[in-house]
Amino acid sequence: MSRIEKKIPFYDIGESYQELKSEIDSAVAKVLSSGWYILGKEVASFEEEFAEFIGTKYCVGTSNGLDALFLVLKAWGIGEGDEVIVPSNTYIATWLAVSYAGAKPIPVEPDIRTFNIDPALIEEKITKRTKAIIPVHLYGMPADMDPIMDLAEKYDLKVLEDSAQAHSAVYGNKKCGSLGTASAFSFYPGKNLGAFGDGGAITTNDRDLAEKVRCLSNYGSKIKYYNEYEGYNCRLDEIQAAILRAKLPYLDEWNRKRHLVAKEYYKIDNPKINLPYQGLQRENLQDDKICFVQPYSGIKSIPCWHQYVIMSEKRNDLQKYLNSLDIETMIHYPVPPHKQKAYSMMNNLSFPLAEQIAKQCLSLPINPFISNINLQYIINKIDASY
Ligand SMILES: *Cc1c(COP(=O)(O)O)cnc(C)c1O
Repeated sequence: MSRIEKKIPFYDIGESYQELKSEIDSAVAKVLSSGWYILGKEVASFEEEFAEFIGTKYCVGTSNGLDALFLVLKAWGIGEGDEVIVPSNTYIATWLAVSYAGAKPIPVEPDIRTFNIDPALIEEKITKRTKAIIPVHLYGMPADMDPIMDLAEKYDLKVLEDSAQAHSAVYGNKKCGSLGTASAFSFYPGKNLGAFGDGGAITTNDRDLAEKVRCLSNYGSKIKYYNEYEGYNCRLDEIQAAILRAKLPYLDEWNRKRHLVAKEYYKIDNPKINLPYQGLQRENLQDDKICFVQPYSGIKSIPCWHQYVIMSEKRNDLQKYLNSLDIETMIHYPVPPHKQKAYSMMNNLSFPLAEQIAKQCLSLPINPFISNINLQYIINKIDASY
């Protein structure tokens, strides 16, 4: 195998700019010369296009994913004294949104086969204070939503999907972001659909909720200088919306390329390494995508491969070894939320599966721009590490 010329980056976000440079430059220039930078045509058009793309009636742009989660909780009136069920295994932003609203995050362990919240473990955590469940489609694999929606109906709870890693992931015949009562997206640059700065959105079929989120995100005001609520400033801006509009038509093609990378990674042959979703039935679809059967409900799901996460008992050694061979990898995430200083009151709690994942997980480079030569190099080196 010929040696690569330079370090293989985990994800060079600038590459999506190079690929669409002329479209993005002209979209940005159009906004700059329009003289209108906040809540204008670009945001309104993006909201319409993204709602249609996800399959919901409404979309409201927000400043980022954390604010999108937070605004939905606030709009539902969730706060002090309330409990919200969250995965023990997630990026901390899911928890922070709950804390920020003044409520308490109640962690539930994952199904280790999917990394996502285990639907069988939720019911025992529901109390009189529980107001909502936030399933996260972690790494772009849809959480098993049907049993979660059934529980929500039984106990009259809201369901807020954290779709920050699940742009265009599919569950059954619907997209993530159209499955819960509402959903939050992030357009942080490294997400599958990324802005060139911060950005986010909520999607929902609930008109009143969409209106309230819109109002809260804009100082609690519907009519300028008249304020109905003690609101916030959490708006998506025109430049980012214009960039997202330029990128959205390429998202599915970029996701298809991620599937091709994932398919190659499934050729890794090393008994010391666990490849993701190994315990699930896997099927190759005609459009090059890979489909998995949810272990609990049996619903077919197509991830969007935000991350390709392997597990190894020798994770730290493996990462060092790959780094010495100029292969950059990442750890999503090294410390679960309940072990963070920020949640010191929960540090003594034990969530063994979340802790095991934090110790063993390693994310391999996956993005639409990896060359085949680099991909084969990574696979060969991982095989050789045995
Ligand atoms: C990125 C992310 C968020 C937060 O989004 P920001 O836009 O960075 O605020 C929330 N939840 C998950 C699971 C994420 O990956």
